[in-house]
Amino acid sequence: MHHFDYREGELYCEEVPIETIAREVGTPFYCYSHATLTRHFHAFDAAFVEVDHLTCFSVKSCSNIAILHLFASLGAGMDIVSGGELHRALQAGVEPEKIVFSGVGKTEEEIVYALEKGILMFNLESPQEMLAVNECATRLGCRAPIAIRVNPDVDPKTHPYISTGLKQNKFGIDLEVSEEMYARAGKMSNLEIMGVGCHIGSQLTEVSPFLDTLRRLKLLIERLRKLNIQIRYLDLGGGLGITYSEEAPPHPSEYARVLLDEIDGLDCRLIFEPGRVIVGNAGILVTRVLYTKDGPVKNFLVVDAGMNDLARPSLYGSYHHIQPVVDQKRSEFQADVVGPICETTDFLARDRNLPRVEQGELLAVMSAGAYGFVMSSNYTSRPRPPEILVQGDRFEVIRARETYDDLLRGERLPDFLN
Ligand SMILES: *Cc1c(COP(=O)(O)O)cnc(C)c1O
Repeated sequence: MHHFDYREGELYCEEVPIETIAREVGTPFYCYSHATLTRHFHAFDAAFVEVDHLTCFSVKSCSNIAILHLFASLGAGMDIVSGGELHRALQAGVEPEKIVFSGVGKTEEEIVYALEKGILMFNLESPQEMLAVNECATRLGCRAPIAIRVNPDVDPKTHPYISTGLKQNKFGIDLEVSEEMYARAGKMSNLEIMGVGCHIGSQLTEVSPFLDTLRRLKLLIERLRKLNIQIRYLDLGGGLGITYSEEAPPHPSEYARVLLDEIDGLDCRLIFEPGRVIVGNAGILVTRVLYTKDGPVKNFLVVDAGMNDLARPSLYGSYHHIQPVVDQKRSEFQADVVGPICETTDFLARDRNLPRVEQGELLAVMSAGAYGFVMSSNYTSRPRPPEILVQGDRFEVIRARETYDDLLRGERLPDFLN
């Protein structure tokens, strides 16, 4: 469910015609629906009302501070994976005690920053990181709240590039050795054990891998409690998938029902780290057809958004539905939708059946709210596109289009070249 619909043949975001935004801000641009963001957050969060829980939005999936602020105002915490994301979350008004810090390569600087701000907990991913966190906390004269991110060795049955909970993945601590690591953590003077964490992958379209993971973590928690290690939080990560094309992922209420049945009586506060399921279908990328080009074996639509604006198709071969902003009766044809960048992987769609659109028309690249703008780059010195937030009949630029001067920010000629 989202709020991008046609009215009399024209695509709207809520009450605003996409065409109106394009006229004002130019193309390409990202456009998010406030109503969809809100609805999706509520759908997820409300699914767990009956238990003590905290929904920590995954900042890396969509990190604009206006969007983080919106979620914070709805009661969200945040899941961060860098110092920069911590800065964003704090700027957006998120309370530090609702922030969990994941990631395999936290630097000393990032650890100190998070300790000083008083975050809820660090999800540790290696024994050496545990030593580093203990050391930073000792230096600051505090105790660092920690969980260990366990790698449950469960196949999430998703794209291998976004699978994180298998033994061969770099993430987390092997389940079997985690017990010993907890025992060591318990002996460290400046660590405070808060809980157990995991995150097995992204774009999961079935509940069973989540359920397998939960079962394994429950056994671990029981064993830890026998060792007198107190576990107050169980962080089940993110990863619930969305519909890009034909996928039929479980609704958050279905996901919640299965998990809650299994969790019964565990006596832990639950943490979730959803990203994609909340923002994925709440944002689109709008682009204009620069040229249509009919080649000897393929047709091309050359558009003004490229792999630097939306990396997912070239990075993972991901499917994004593409539709014209003006919907009218016309014939179909097959085309590659490609960007202006000098790379063969610069495409948004390949061999796609599309209505025959013409030069100058606007296209909407759907389901671009998650891992869209956040993965954009300045490759080929292209200024990154603006982000627009629509609420009802109004819209605002929540990130300005970059300028040519923005591209040069921080660059200088060294003295020895003068
Ligand atoms: C990326 C990430 C998430 C969010 O994943 P989604 O698939 O977007 O829900 C949650 N937790 C961690 C640790 C992550 O790295």
